[in-house]
This record gives sequence, structure tokens and C-alpha cells, in this order.
Amino acid sequence: MAVHAHPDDEASSTGGVLARCAAEGITTVLVTCTDGRCGDGPGGIKPGAPGHDPVAVAAMRREELEASCAALKVTHLELLGYADSGMMGWPSNDAPGSFWGVPVAEAADRLAGLIRRYRPDVVVTYDENGFYGHPDHIQAHRVTMAAVALTDVPAKVYWTTAPHSGMAALGEALRELGVDWAETEMTEDAPPPQIGLPDAEITTWVDTRAFGAQKYDALAAHASQSENIAFLRMGKERFTDLMGVETFVRVRDTTGAPLPEDDLFAGLR
Ligand SMILES: [Zn+2]
Repeated sequence: MAVHAHPDDEASSTGGVLARCAAEGITTVLVTCTDGRCGDGPGGIKPGAPGHDPVAVAAMRREELEASCAALKVTHLELLGYADSGMMGWPSNDAPGSFWGVPVAEAADRLAGLIRRYRPDVVVTYDENGFYGHPDHIQAHRVTMAAVALTDVPAKVYWTTAPHSGMAALGEALRELGVDWAETEMTEDAPPPQIGLPDAEITTWVDTRAFGAQKYDALAAHASQSENIAFLRMGKERFTDLMGVETFVRVRDTTGAPLPEDDLFAGLR
């Protein structure tokens, strides 16, 4: 079970492991917490700009999410249906129904219901900073950890991360493509967050290069979102080279599988 904040997060950070699990006959469950209404609209219309209709954006992103799940052969898609809260500091943080404003216990209770129904051996979500500081990612982390504590079902829990070594190479590739992270809206109001971890702190490195084309296709299903376009511009081969190993920190384990490991299901097979 992968718990993500928005439609498209499943592709960028866990597309490889979801596709690999599917190929190995492991049932996968994607839980997407928000509707993505604060994303870009058709034609690249930015949230808050004239013509940006949050309800229409959410409907478009729902279709994109289903196409991504088809590419990754996700077994079950579950939507919590909260409103996308937007980036930290946006007025949408406090809008009625926004995920950021929902009490953790309330959303955790709903997620716990899904955990009891599907009984996942492995649960994947973000770290305390939501990987890069987005409020919905932070909330997804809090809700997931609370739901795991309520159910005590998963044998293993992971947080997604990125190795500092790989991020340097990725930054270089994006610069070559003319993308400057400092100009993206992600960092508009704040200095770039410290994301990822030193390589030595990463517990789990999963080689998903054989599934690079599926991960690319899943991200391509979300091409309406401007931040995905730079990755798509790399083409499948380069994308797979740069994004083909997915990394995690293991934060709960009842199997005793030795670390570092190269398989989310080590100790469970
Ligand atoms: Zn997201």
C-alpha cells in the first residue's frame, strides 16, 4: 500500500516499485489523499489565475490518475477525496475540506479502515517533512503513521527518499534541459528545502530499471502538471537511468531482514 498526497505522486516516487510488485504478482493498493484541485488546469492555467476551475482540474486529474494506475497495473485505487491544500502559505491551506485542515485522527481512522480491509504487509509514505515540505505530503505522513499505529497491521513501513548522490546527477540533467528549480513555484516563497538523505542513511535501494518505461508512461499520464514535463523531456532511456532506482528509509520492521536491503518485501517472501 502506497499512501500519496496528490494524483501524480504515485508515479514520480513509487512508480517503479508499484510496477515491479504488479509484475511479481503482489497486490498493490494506491491511496491518494487529495483531489489535486490546486494543480495546473488544462492548457497550463495556474491555480488562482483566471479560468482555473478547481472542480474541473480535480476531474481531469482523476482521469489522469486512473491512466497512471493502468500503466503501473495498480490493483486497487482508493481516494480519500480531500481537497488539495496547495503549497504552504496559500489561502487554500485553510479552505473548507482541505486536507491540511482535517484532524489527523479523523483521516487516520478512514485510512485505518483501508488497512484493516487490505491488510498490507508493506506501507509506503513520506517522511515528516513530506519529502519537500508540501502541506498535503506532511499530512499524508502524519495520517499514515497514525493509521499504522491504530491497526498494527503492516510488517514494514517505509518513507520515500532520494540519495544526495543521485540528486546531484538529476539536478545536472534538469539544468541541461533548461529547468532551474529556483524558478519553480515549489520554491517561490521559501529557500529550497533540504530534501533527500546522505546515501549512508538510506536503508533500502530498489532497482526498478526494468520498469522504467511503465514509470515514464505513468508520469506521462500526468503531463498536464508543469513540474512533470521536465522529466518527460528526458525521454524514457535517460529518465530510467536517473529515476530507475527508488530509495526508502525503513522505519518499521517486524521481519528482521538485514539492512541495507534491495527489496521492500525482504523478509516476507
Ligand atoms: Zn504531491
